[in-house]
Amino acid sequence: MSLNEFELHSERLATTDAKGKRIYLHPADVKGFFRTQRTRLQFVLIVFFLGLPWIQINGRQALLLDLAQRRFEIFGLSLRAHNAPLLFFVFAAAGFGLFFATSVFGRIWCGWACPQTVFIDGIFRRIERWIEGSALERRKLDAAPMTLSKLTKRSLKWFAFVLATLIITHSFMAYFIGVDQLATMIRRPPTENWGSFLFMLFSSGIILFDFAWFREQFCTIACPYGRFQSVLMDKSSMVVAYDVNRGEPRATAQAKILAKNHSTNLGDCVNCYRCVQVCPTGIDIRRGVQMECIACTACIDACDDVMTKVHKPKGLIRYNTSVSTPKANIKVKLKFTSRSAVYLTLCLASVIALTVFLSKIKPVDVQILRAKDTPYSVQTVEDGTSEVMNHFLVELSNQSGVRHELLFLVPNDFDKNNIHVVTAIHPLPIENGQVTRTDVFIHFNKTLLENGQKKIRLLIKDKNSISEHVIEIEKEVMLVGPFF
Ligand code: SF4
Ligand code: SF4
Repeated sequence: MSLNEFELHSERLATTDAKGKRIYLHPADVKGFFRTQRTRLQFVLIVFFLGLPWIQINGRQALLLDLAQRRFEIFGLSLRAHNAPLLFFVFAAAGFGLFFATSVFGRIWCGWACPQTVFIDGIFRRIERWIEGSALERRKLDAAPMTLSKLTKRSLKWFAFVLATLIITHSFMAYFIGVDQLATMIRRPPTENWGSFLFMLFSSGIILFDFAWFREQFCTIACPYGRFQSVLMDKSSMVVAYDVNRGEPRATAQAKILAKNHSTNLGDCVNCYRCVQVCPTGIDIRRGVQMECIACTACIDACDDVMTKVHKPKGLIRYNTSVSTPKANIKVKLKFTSRSAVYLTLCLASVIALTVFLSKIKPVDVQILRAKDTPYSVQTVEDGTSEVMNHFLVELSNQSGVRHELLFLVPNDFDKNNIHVVTAIHPLPIENGQVTRTDVFIHFNKTLLENGQKKIRLLIKDKNSISEHVIEIEKEVMLVGPFF
């Protein structure tokens, strides 16, 4: 087959010229079944991505990954620094779930749900189309010399890009610092939040660079998951594929009319290159499954449209698997291989492990540490006896869903005349989702000690004992003092 002006070179990326310079793609617009479904899903996902930080579950942000405060809120699940190992199971479940989806449905994530695809296709390309026109008009504008009209369009487009980027970046930051802090930061001058302000500027720069300019280059040369997916997929995975048996030998519609008169058998592909023109990564799917294909389905809709016009059945390009019969028209024969079974098992195992560990999380988690001063101090009290004092640091994390006012006591089975617990704030208030620390001093008569030590229990309970969320926690503490 001879090279024509539309034919892509086989030895280099569709987005680079002979000198390796970037060719800026303007994929043509397409209409069809998959385009409609993707537009609907993109709308839902954009609202979801931007709106999720503003949604609250049980009074807490639905998804918050506050690394600085080591506070993680994951759809009602509250994790603190000491629960951080549980994040392993959260990410393992999500990761293996994605592996499973990829092994069965191919690059469905890339084409349908990846924020990169969703924001570029759903916002940035849309802005470009509104301001600069169709793909053909945009190509002409690129080639045209700078005029007042071109300058105005370009300025307007980049102004809209910057605005969209700032909205995305601020929503992105809300996942890491929380909406309350974000709202406070926005109202204050940058000089009061230099760190966060610079982080926001840096993130905005990266997002603007990627969504407005770098685009498909990220998918084809930078995305690690894009590379990784090649090893997750096999012959049973679903891909967007061209039906070679049906399409070849390809020929233009005109050639087909001539061939008909000479009874020559030609395939259904009319070599119109429409599938190439709509492809966001610029590839020709007729060359087989390629790593650059993000399974966006644009070529399916484009080819279905062409097939309808030439009165041929749809599905020359369609979702397919290598194990599906070549005669299959639209239906895809999905097959669960042992590989997908392993991914699914690992995903379920991570979910089960997470559930088991979560069921062990207490409504109020209490960690008692000995304070970093002297292990004990001895004082002589009014009646002339010696009293020993131990200093503890108590860290509390309230994950119960309600506010508590906590008292620190010694259980009834201990001699309360000889042991006193003193805290700076009594009772100690702790809000839902709050992590707090308090100093606890335990004073006791030295006669309590046996060989310089005594194990007791510290009782931490609600002041309001009639609450249905009543908290009563007992923790062992080792008291130490002099041997004599
Ligand atoms: S080949 Fe088709 S499915 Fe793949 S990226 Fe291009 S248009 Fe999308
Ligand atoms: S859109 Fe269909 S008919 Fe046109 S070149 Fe692509 S595969 Fe062939």
